[in-house]
Amino acid sequence: MEEQKVVQYGTTVIPFSLRRSDRSTLAITVQPDATVHVTAPLHAEWHKIESRVLKRGRWIRKQQQFFETFLPATPVRTYVSGETHLYLGKQYRLKILAGSSPSVKLKSGRLMVTAPDNANTDHVKQLLGAWYKQHAEKRFEKALRHAMPLFRKYPINLPEITVKRMQKRWGSCQPDGRIILNPEIIKAPSRCIDYVVIHELCHLVHHNHGSEFYRLHDKVMPDWRRWKEKLEKVMS
Ligand SMILES: [Zn+2]
Repeated sequence: MEEQKVVQYGTTVIPFSLRRSDRSTLAITVQPDATVHVTAPLHAEWHKIESRVLKRGRWIRKQQQFFETFLPATPVRTYVSGETHLYLGKQYRLKILAGSSPSVKLKSGRLMVTAPDNANTDHVKQLLGAWYKQHAEKRFEKALRHAMPLFRKYPINLPEITVKRMQKRWGSCQPDGRIILNPEIIKAPSRCIDYVVIHELCHLVHHNHGSEFYRLHDKVMPDWRRWKEKLEKVMS
């Protein structure tokens, strides 16, 4: 059984799910969707659980802030001419044209979408989504090819990239060594994409966010924090 609880940590409220289990110690985890999960011994008293969570408050907030980088914000789009859309860190104005063969082209600083019925915003959205995905696939492969030599001292194989829209993350690394990337990051500057790819490659070496993971991250991309911040800013 799971209960929803909160603790007040300074000025921040930390909500978490509490599960009781037949174990002797208390465990706290922060999931990639920034949710906090606590597993406590069956008969642990609430004030003890509370004080343990508070004691780890700083660590919890740090984990959450880290994962929050990967939580995409989705601005409302209407898919009409004049609206701006991001591509590789730049804003492009949409121009929607009527034409029998559907297409999307980046031309003279504009995103030109041609659709048989240019007032059909669902179709425009679909065409644009497919265009982004196609370009994301190419750009992500390129980022991966550029990043791999940084890892030549580590026993990792060239991973397969899957481009998949995810609700709450920019990238993830699968136990089978596959890397899943959110096509949304094609909207960010190139180095932000490199950052996400490199972050996931570091996970092929270290599967957690421990100190060795960060040491490697700093080594292969010393300025990664700058691109992480930029990514957060662009996507928010
Ligand atoms: Zn990570």
